[in-house]
Amino acid sequence: MACRLMRAADEELPALLAAASEAKQRFKPGIITYSRKVFLPLTNLCRDYCGYCTFRRDPGQAGAHTMTPEEVLQVARTGEKLGCTEALFSLGDKPELAFPEMRESLRRLGYNSTLHYLEAMCELVLRETSLLPHPNPGLLSAEWIARLAAVSPSMGLMLETTSRSVLEPGAAHDGAPDKVPAKRLRTIEEAGKQGVPFTTGLLIGIGETVEDRVDTLLAIRDLHRRYGHIQEVIVQNFRTKPDIPMRDWPEPTRGEMLRTVAVARLLMPEVNIQAPPNLSAPYYDELLGAGINDWGGVSPLTPDFINPEKPWPHLEQLQLRTESKGYRLRQRLPVYPEFIPRVLARSGWLAEKTRTAADDQGYARSLT
Ligand code: SF4
Repeated sequence: MACRLMRAADEELPALLAAASEAKQRFKPGIITYSRKVFLPLTNLCRDYCGYCTFRRDPGQAGAHTMTPEEVLQVARTGEKLGCTEALFSLGDKPELAFPEMRESLRRLGYNSTLHYLEAMCELVLRETSLLPHPNPGLLSAEWIARLAAVSPSMGLMLETTSRSVLEPGAAHDGAPDKVPAKRLRTIEEAGKQGVPFTTGLLIGIGETVEDRVDTLLAIRDLHRRYGHIQEVIVQNFRTKPDIPMRDWPEPTRGEMLRTVAVARLLMPEVNIQAPPNLSAPYYDELLGAGINDWGGVSPLTPDFINPEKPWPHLEQLQLRTESKGYRLRQRLPVYPEFIPRVLARSGWLAEKTRTAADDQGYARSLT
């Protein structure tokens, strides 16, 4: 059935979108959320080589960088002044296993591994600012999930796809040992066993089939049914760039994106479904009619951040376009309102910081 809906003919699309929109309204009526975040690319060195990645660098390559603690704090403090509540740590997967240069950087910083450094930087941000960390460090063991959960209320790992064919020579995940679906499912499952609010999602248009997209959604749903910990499913679309190995690949169409979002909503009517607006510009507001209830992270410190007196031109646009479709835009924390009680149930300062950041409904206290 879900595969049939993914292939809905154009004349069937309005009915599919209407069903998805109604499901969204039953789940979270009238509200679309977003998270004001700062982006902290702790290191862009990565041992994987995904064919679509514009983020990763090898040591010595132009733009290769590992942030210092001072840089982390400076970005976090700037974001704090601009009303951000999330510190999103994005980084390559275990670069020290591939690169002696990263081992040397970590040694100079005083850490045994990238994850040790990440843990310390989450703790630094938590201690020194009002931001809540949300790390995305790649595959994690049970021990590391527990350690990072002590310094961040939520974390994430994109499942991307359950397709194994994208691991084949010349395919998107050829050269990406950390993208083996079974390994990623194991991390997400372990987070579930530990009750950690978890963000995951799929990436469409990287060589998977429509059946693979449904299979990926069902795998996420299955884990959520068992552990109840999936706080958000991101539906991300591949966008081509001139300098990536997959530069000649076709991008998924608008219709594919709308169908995937709608099917995700119908398969998981009570899970937050997010799609990044920038990857569907200029037509992103159509996603509101396909059942999303969240725009993801919006940052004031983006390249289009020019005027500090008016730091949110893209947020104003987002608000206007969200309101024009009849929804109210609300700022959330990296951990969604319905998952806040489980963070508050933990003892210690993470619970205290989260309590301070949240309003009585679990949204961000610093509302616009
Ligand atoms: S794992 Fe893949 S997508 Fe992520 S940083 Fe590394 S190369 Fe890029």
